[in-house]
Amino acid sequence: MRIMIVEDERRLADALVQIFERERITADVFYDGDEGLDNAMSEIYDVVVLDIMLPGRDGLSIVREMRRNGIATPVLMLTARGSLSDKVGGLDSGADDYLTKPFQTDELLARVRALARRSSNTLVTSDELSCGDIVLDTASFELRCGTSSIKLGRKEYDVMDLLMRNCGAVVSKDMIITRIWGYDSEAEDNNVEVYISFLRKKLTFLGSKVSIRTLRGVGYTIDKL
Ligand code: CA
Repeated sequence: MRIMIVEDERRLADALVQIFERERITADVFYDGDEGLDNAMSEIYDVVVLDIMLPGRDGLSIVREMRRNGIATPVLMLTARGSLSDKVGGLDSGADDYLTKPFQTDELLARVRALARRSSNTLVTSDELSCGDIVLDTASFELRCGTSSIKLGRKEYDVMDLLMRNCGAVVSKDMIITRIWGYDSEAEDNNVEVYISFLRKKLTFLGSKVSIRTLRGVGYTIDKL
């Protein structure tokens, strides 16, 4: 899962990145509103977390612009302002959820996961993704099939998480690179192929009927049978 945070308090922003990293959620941080909007328009994020008071464009304006441009990425507003009118204003602007600072990190994580579930086209329970006969445990990072299970490395997990959230749909190589390695990365197509081949070996090891099919020049898709 990849999320975006727009927060101008650097210490809080950096702490949030670490909190998400521990849950294997990749978080990109932007410290001002204009940069935040530019990146939100990329539609590569599962969830966008927005502070309201920001240098440049404010959080409410970001979410309004996103929605006006048809960007449906779930948005969680994160702000020190806790009055009812602020909450209503945030939701009316197109935000999906609202959390007031100071907040408990467990609650933040739970809300972000809930928003990501809503935007996924896969059956997701609290901490599992299912597709065909396999289950990806998003808490233990294990891939399971029947009674067998195997632990996935960080990048393997990220690739599998992305494929399973798009179960049955085609995921392009570019999307995998951007979402997992980020825009500025030097990652090559080869990297993706390496992780796909690791995952195929693990699926075979598990005895799963699920396979990852290559659509040459297009990307990858999960075949359930
Ligand atoms: Ca702020």
